[in-house]
Parts: sequence; C-alpha cells; structure tokens
Amino acid sequence: MNYSNSELVEELTELGYLKSQSLIDSFLAIDRKDFVPESLLEFAYYNEPLPIGNDQTISQPLTVAFMLELLDLKAGDKVLEIGSGSGWQTSLIAKMVEYSGGIAEDKDGRYGVISLERIDSLAQMAINNVSKYGFVERGVVKIINFDGTKGYETEAPFDKIIASASGKEIPQAWKDQLVIGGKIVTPVEESIVVLDKTGKNEFQKREFHGFAFVPLISG
Ligand code: SAH
Repeated sequence: MNYSNSELVEELTELGYLKSQSLIDSFLAIDRKDFVPESLLEFAYYNEPLPIGNDQTISQPLTVAFMLELLDLKAGDKVLEIGSGSGWQTSLIAKMVEYSGGIAEDKDGRYGVISLERIDSLAQMAINNVSKYGFVERGVVKIINFDGTKGYETEAPFDKIIASASGKEIPQAWKDQLVIGGKIVTPVEESIVVLDKTGKNEFQKREFHGFAFVPLISG
C-alpha cells in the first residue's frame, strides 16, 4: 500500500500506466489527499476508487493515468471534462494545459478547462478542491453544474474532450464540439474509447477493454 503521493506515482509508473514526464510531473504536483473526503484520508494513496458522496467516486488512479496518457494534453489545449466529481482529474488536466505565465494571459481570457458536473453539491466540492491550487482563481478552470451529455456549446470548440462517467454511446454534441485534429477519450460501457477527429464527420477509433465506471446520466 502507498503512504504518500510520490509512492502512488511510483506504483503507477512501475505498472506502466504513467509514461510521459509531463504527466508524471502533474501527478506529483497534484496531491490526491486534497480531493479525498476527510474520513477516507488514510486511503488517499491507494490505487482504488473511493466514495465522495451522492453514490459517486473519485476515480481509480490507474484509470485516470491511462486515460490522460491517451488524451495527450499540451499547454494551451482547450479541454472539456464531463464529470468533475472531486476535481482531482480536473486539476491534473489544468496542470498540463496551463502555460507557466497563466492561461488567461496567453489565451485572451479563455478558460483552459471547462468541467461539467450534474450534481450541484459535487460541483461545489470540486470548486473548493480545485481552488486549493488556484486554478479557478487564475481562470484556468471553470466548473459548471450542467448536464455534460450536451457538451458545452458556448465555450466550443475544444481541442480535447474527456469523460469520467460511462454511457452506451458517445454523444453527438461532443463530436460536433471538437476541433478537426482533436481527440475524445471516454468510457463507453466497460471500455475506454479514443476518437481522433480527422475530418468534419470523420473519426478514427481505438478501444481498450476492462475498466469500471459510474454511469453517465442524462438530464
Ligand atoms: N474524475 C472524477 C470522477 C468522478 S465520478 C474524480 O476523480 O473525482 C464521475 C462523475 O460524473 C460523477 O461526479 C457524476 O455525478 C458525474 N456525471 C455523471 N453523469 C454526468 C453528466 N451527464 N454530466 C455531468 N456530470 C455527470
């Protein structure tokens, strides 16, 4: 079992889930204990999902590492996340896309990460947690209480879209709100699907089986 964030990162690296240096740095900078309920702090660095209330969980670390490696984030990417939950993954993404000088300066005031959460109390929890790193205050992250199956038209298009809850199919809105050359990484049932947008209505698809997710709920 792991007793520190760096031990968790070491485990994920040894197991082969974390590969790129920028993502390893991001996992080291964002401490999982800042996103776990106080009563579960002793388990913060276990490679397990943990309950965060409202029948939802903070995702399993290996799943987050695997999906973020696939998402291939770069500084300056505009990202849509569906399912903020604890805000842990939101913060990992923010760390990857924020320019060292602050995203607002470099992107004409546009947010780097729009994160949608359908349960209001979790959206509030995510805002509190993500604020521990100043991402909300610096204008890198905006967390909105909204049904993510619709995407978020007012901030579209996005370079990258990632969901942490699983539906039966990928919503059309996500495909429409993605730039050509952009990428969606999302669960579909028990698989992780990667869609690369190669043309207006053209996508290349890859699929990885054998993961577990909470359901994507519409409305
Ligand atoms: N990556 C998050 C995972 C949270 S679990 C973390 O590590 O904390 C998935 C989240 O997706 C839950 O909080 C759930 O409420 C949310 N969710 C489910 N359906 C949704 C929808 N249609 N729109 C927005 N959020 C949704």
